[in-house]
Amino acid sequence: MRKYKSAIILFAVFEAIAVWLWRSTGSLFYLLNFSYIGCTLGIGLALSAAGWKHAREFVQFCVGSYMLVFLGLICRENMQIEGFWFYLFSGMFGAGVLHYAIAKIFGPLLFGRGWCGYACWTAMIFDLLPFKMPAGPRKRIGFIRYIMFALSLGIVILLISLGKANKTSMFYLFVAGNVLYYVVGILLALVLKDNRAFCKYICPITVFLKPMSYFSVLRVKCDESKCIQCGKCLEVCPMDVEVNKNARNRKNATECILCQKCKKACPVKALK
Ligand code: SF4
Ligand code: SF4
Ligand code: SF4
Repeated sequence: MRKYKSAIILFAVFEAIAVWLWRSTGSLFYLLNFSYIGCTLGIGLALSAAGWKHAREFVQFCVGSYMLVFLGLICRENMQIEGFWFYLFSGMFGAGVLHYAIAKIFGPLLFGRGWCGYACWTAMIFDLLPFKMPAGPRKRIGFIRYIMFALSLGIVILLISLGKANKTSMFYLFVAGNVLYYVVGILLALVLKDNRAFCKYICPITVFLKPMSYFSVLRVKCDESKCIQCGKCLEVCPMDVEVNKNARNRKNATECILCQKCKKACPVKALK
């Protein structure tokens, strides 16, 4: 049972959040939503502990498709960054704001960019493409994310000032935003031969994720006394993290999505 301890703890934490939100708001949605996510994460971690190599993708699909199809398309909640701005400015601290607060703003202090590795519905499609390892070095075009961030904010402010910001317009913005992200992300992956190119250069959510994950409690650590400098961890990392260094400011440190590929590749178990 020891190897399933993390899975049980994670499930218990989500269940506690589910019950607390249900009791404090009276909404059954919170109980079902967080129970489902906790259950999926718990099963995924247990499968990973049992050695199943597709455990991460299993969690990514269960959580990602639930959010995209059920919450986004069926319940019509805009879970994109534009939805976050809209709910925030409208004073509606419901599912959208809560989702951002937990997964993308304060949660990363604890679990870094776990969202990007295990739950994002955009990346769950990119990860199916054939370029699992980037074909070349990083491009110096990461500034695009800040332009996208400003655009997402500008669109919502414009809609509010025109009196056109409402649940219906936000739903259409959600659909259009997702189509745009998929098209741009897939094209970029094909051109740069890098599945995660969109995450590295375009995604506006990283403006929240990167600074918060710098302080993340959960991170891959390297026992440099064990490391034999074989470079295998660097070869398999989809995010170009210099993971065989242990400094918090190692190159691309805030890009780690906790996928665990480096740990599996290390021949001397120097990564924990
Ligand atoms: S960087 Fe953006 S698109 Fe990529 S996994 Fe994270 S949230 Fe999703
Ligand atoms: S391979 Fe390692 S360093 Fe790279 S993203 Fe995955 S967990 Fe992080
Ligand atoms: S794979 Fe392990 S031993 Fe090789 S460079 Fe990375 S941390 Fe060091």
